[in-house]
Amino acid sequence: MILFRKAADVSAYLMKQKITGKDIGFVPTMGALHPGHISLINASKKRDTLTVGSIFVNPAQFNNPDDFDNYPSTLEKDIDVLEKAGCDVLFLPSVSEMYPNGTANAETYDLGYLETVLEGKYRPGHFQGVCLVVNRLLDIIPADRLYLGQKDYQQCMVIKKLTELKGIKTTIIICPTLREKDGLAMSSRNLRLTEKDRKQALKISEALLIIRNVIQPGDLGSLKQKATQHLTGAGFAVDYVEIAGADNLEIIDHWDGKQKTVALAAAFLGDVRLIDNMLL
Ligand code: AMP
Repeated sequence: MILFRKAADVSAYLMKQKITGKDIGFVPTMGALHPGHISLINASKKRDTLTVGSIFVNPAQFNNPDDFDNYPSTLEKDIDVLEKAGCDVLFLPSVSEMYPNGTANAETYDLGYLETVLEGKYRPGHFQGVCLVVNRLLDIIPADRLYLGQKDYQQCMVIKKLTELKGIKTTIIICPTLREKDGLAMSSRNLRLTEKDRKQALKISEALLIIRNVIQPGDLGSLKQKATQHLTGAGFAVDYVEIAGADNLEIIDHWDGKQKTVALAAAFLGDVRLIDNMLL
């Protein structure tokens, strides 16, 4: 695996590779890698002749400074795991390399409705920061395919919208959420859970399963309430438990039994915020 820290160097290297006919798959991450991240690397390795990973904890997407300060970092282990997974290139930029002109006057993106609901509503500015970093990364990495996890369902939709807005040709591939044995979605933030909270954390996937197993056409209010209570009863502070259109994230209060839907939840255990979703 070749490690690059400078944008110009990795761009030049990858452009040369492209000229020789290589397909480039790209997996952007914020590090503290787990098997969910590696499943994206594996998906790229199956399809592309060259797999690029990046590790960059993007300050622009943290609406909560404490969350940024406490974001886990396991860099040496990450490099080792990527190397073992057969990642070809790792881009490891600094903040000044990514944002040489700072972010105060950064471009803004017209994300419309997507930015007003769910994660957009509870994490103001978050998706602007996500677009900023992905736009910059795709300027640097000439990716044929970009691999994203369904774990961040709304983020996948936002990044699709970004590629439409900017006319970016990269194809987006969405990979399934990898889970721990008890059902908890793998996440770097799980490292921050106390032992007691880790045991409770599986309730978030249980709440979504309750929705998936019980949903019937008609009014969804009491089902959402039941799933929310499953979390509050276990000590979570809930941001939302919602059912939305799988293609547009419009909140659904009354289901016709036909529309493709997704259940999504975000909740805090202590100061750790967890999100999860399931297609219904
Ligand atoms: P992050 O490092 O959290 O920014 O995530 C980097 C990429 O890995 C994103 O596309 C995530 O959606 C994806 N990802 C995170 N957790 C999982 C998981 N449990 N299963 C599959 N992909 C994941």
